[in-house]
Amino acid sequence: MKSALQTGHSTVGKVYLVGAGPGDPDLLTVKAQRLIAQATVVLHDDLVSRPILALTAPHAEVVSVGKRFGAPGPTQTEINERMIASARQGLEVVRLKGGDPGIFGRLAEEIDALDAAGIPYEIVPGITAGIAAAASLGMSLTDRRMAARVVVVTNHQAQGDAKADWRGLIREDSTLVIYMPGHDFASLRDQLLAAGCAADMPSAIVSRASLPDEGYRFSTVGELDKLASVDSPSILLVGRSIDRTGCRANSSAARALGEAELLLSSLEA
Ligand code: SAH
Repeated sequence: MKSALQTGHSTVGKVYLVGAGPGDPDLLTVKAQRLIAQATVVLHDDLVSRPILALTAPHAEVVSVGKRFGAPGPTQTEINERMIASARQGLEVVRLKGGDPGIFGRLAEEIDALDAAGIPYEIVPGITAGIAAAASLGMSLTDRRMAARVVVVTNHQAQGDAKADWRGLIREDSTLVIYMPGHDFASLRDQLLAAGCAADMPSAIVSRASLPDEGYRFSTVGELDKLASVDSPSILLVGRSIDRTGCRANSSAARALGEAELLLSSLEA
């Protein structure tokens, strides 16, 4: 068998760790779009939308490696092995992740594995869900009149059933962007209040940001438990810069869900 040295060129392919953005294919970067269209192998998470997968080449091997809660999927080790094996065959591999690959996307584990295997890789950032959600609500996460910082946090912990630790994160001038907020908003309310959050702190849950059926509901932290559940994926924003009366939906598709009908009329006014 000829080695890479003997043939004069490397037989090792490359892995692109690509952010697919929040779902709307128009929110892909130009680079992501190009790489998706030319990849021989695309390994994608469940959150990657169909219209984005439709951009893959007809001959490409497109494999879902997503794992949803409760549903079996390949382990992280199996995903790593698959990426490495395809790259070793000299193939161009796109590892496609929802949003930005570096935000709650297990990017670090994958680059560790690629480094250890000596596989070249490149990270292509994407628009993360929190940014898309704020845009859907027509708000600024860092409205300087009310917010001096943004905290990107998850309500779901990697280590078993460990709870998110909210101490030190709660401030009047912080906007919290809570990924994987779960469904137990009564418990989340209690934890936020116990950590010192004001009960009247505004919050908004944005469901399926940037997708045709996106929607949102407003609440306050003290009334989070009354928030009816929304379709997944959803993301919770908490902070003074969420002002429901001043909120203008950015996208014509964004709609207030359920009880917030009142808001629709103010949006249309
Ligand atoms: N890497 C992704 C996040 C992966 S964690 C990113 O940067 O966006 C998965 C969580 O992201 C979901 O549970 C949800 O909280 C959030 N999320 C992803 N896409 C979303 C969307 N279109 N609308 C609302 N939340 C979304």
